[in-house]
Amino acid sequence: MISFFRRLIRGYIKSNLLLRILMGLLLGAVAGLLCGPDIQWIKPLGDLFIRLLKMIVMPVIIFTLVVGAAGIHTSKLGRVGVKALLFYVLTSAFAVALGLLFGNMFSPGEGMALTAMHSAGDNSINLTKPDLIDTLLNIVPSNPFAAIAEGNVLATIFVSLFTGVALAHIRECENVQTREAAQALYQFFEGGSQLVYVIVHWVLQFAPIGVFALIAVVFGNQGAAAFGPLIGVTLTVYCAFVAHLVLVYGGILTWRRISFRQFLIKARAAMVTSFVTRSSGGTLPVSMEVAEKEMGVSRGIFSFTLPLGATLNMDGTAIYQGVCAVFIGLAIGLPLSFEQQLTVIVTAVLASIGTAGVPGAGAIMLLMVLDSVGLKVEQGSTVAAAYAMIFGIDALLDMGRTSLNVTGDLTVTCVVAQSEGELQTEVWNNRLPTTPAAQKI
Ligand code: ASP
Repeated sequence: MISFFRRLIRGYIKSNLLLRILMGLLLGAVAGLLCGPDIQWIKPLGDLFIRLLKMIVMPVIIFTLVVGAAGIHTSKLGRVGVKALLFYVLTSAFAVALGLLFGNMFSPGEGMALTAMHSAGDNSINLTKPDLIDTLLNIVPSNPFAAIAEGNVLATIFVSLFTGVALAHIRECENVQTREAAQALYQFFEGGSQLVYVIVHWVLQFAPIGVFALIAVVFGNQGAAAFGPLIGVTLTVYCAFVAHLVLVYGGILTWRRISFRQFLIKARAAMVTSFVTRSSGGTLPVSMEVAEKEMGVSRGIFSFTLPLGATLNMDGTAIYQGVCAVFIGLAIGLPLSFEQQLTVIVTAVLASIGTAGVPGAGAIMLLMVLDSVGLKVEQGSTVAAAYAMIFGIDALLDMGRTSLNVTGDLTVTCVVAQSEGELQTEVWNNRLPTTPAAQKI
């Protein structure tokens, strides 16, 4: 009996990880549809997976970002930063515009003549509007240890970057004693980053079970009804996601002579993980593994661009906010004017930047976008009713937008790395032996 279980576990670990994750996804959907809300008991397994991912996010960011920033020449860091930020902001702006375009083309919500039937209060939505200035100010923590302990990703990135750059500086110091101390500190962080990668590899072994549970609960709760009256908005959002993926990411990669097809094959583990976890931040360990082991991006680049992208670059969220703004306008019989849509472009880019890489964050930030064009989500209003409808299927929309968010981060990382001569073609072409983890993905 014991040897049977041992063989079972060994077989499980040896089989292809991606295949296992996909199986978990499909079987989870079927189980959810068959069992309905009764499948709720399985939720703790999904929560456990999310907790495991979250557990390693902060250590991964701190160790890899400090090592990455400390290992890269200060002048290069500035260049990489500017390039990455430029790509991130431009693609986000394009994403909102695309969302608006698709929203206008497909017109989801048109003719709904919504009344205030679903009051926001009934759906227990948190209507507190996030303050953008505060979000931006919070990037600089007044207490770095508190920021890390609270899981404030953006602030942790800031502190880690600061530490890494300072470390790079003292590693080149003329004083021998200081230089040696800096070297010892660098080795500590280097050791830490190796350690967290091993933990990531172990955590990923649980992914298929976690995925099964997460999907089963979504389908169990929402069932086929999830595709009911909101099928229009879901289709519009997903069509825009695909268009952005092909036109923008495909276009940028092809322009840089990087095979888009190869890129998708290599990025698949991160795309699937983000789809099911609905968290860019949670997927970070997987994205980093993919960037390094599958794509051959040097650590000095991805340790900076990926955590930054996971918090700032949210193209999927920007598209979703564009479509939803149009949907809500149409649903309440007040279509957005051209000027209002221009405002949406600006606020949705800012909102997507301020959106945390956690499940559902984009839906909260949508409140800020709606507010900017006078669509106030107040209890009992028609805007609140339309918002509540979208909120009801947020899990479905969040899956696609998070996956696109992560794919965008990897695209920019590849392009920036290539432009810096930091994309190892031997690894990209699979000519170098990769780790067991990468082989299995
Ligand atoms: N869940 C998304 C992410 O983690 C953010 C959002 O809700 O739009 O990227």
